[in-house]
Amino acid sequence: MRLTKHRQEILDTLDKSEEALSAGQIHSILPHINLVTIYRSLEYFIKANEVKKLHLDGQEAVYEIQHEPHHHAICSDCSKVIHFTVDDKKLIEEFSLPGFKIKDIEITLRGNCLHENKRSKVK
Ligand SMILES: [Zn+2]
Ligand SMILES: [Zn+2]
Repeated sequence: MRLTKHRQEILDTLDKSEEALSAGQIHSILPHINLVTIYRSLEYFIKANEVKKLHLDGQEAVYEIQHEPHHHAICSDCSKVIHFTVDDKKLIEEFSLPGFKIKDIEITLRGNCLHENKRSKVK
């Protein structure tokens, strides 16, 4: 499989990013690649299982490379995303549905981070 230069750049950008990025954010990092190409490339990477598409805040989808499969917790105050791992095998046992074979599990937790530094924050 040969990647075009643009696809490679998109993949590298996701790889370097600490956070999951939306297509628009990728576009602002790589303004020379048009948005349609970015969307098409992302779809291609999703099919190839190289990139995961996440719907974290119910609005714009974001994309990330998961070097290790993991789940997400989102703060509804500050939109901070925590990436965490759990024992997926145990969870799959927990969720067993009759007549249904679970292949993959993806958890999004919503809540609030504890903002311990709230008072000392400079506005
Ligand atoms: Zn927060
Ligand atoms: Zn993640």
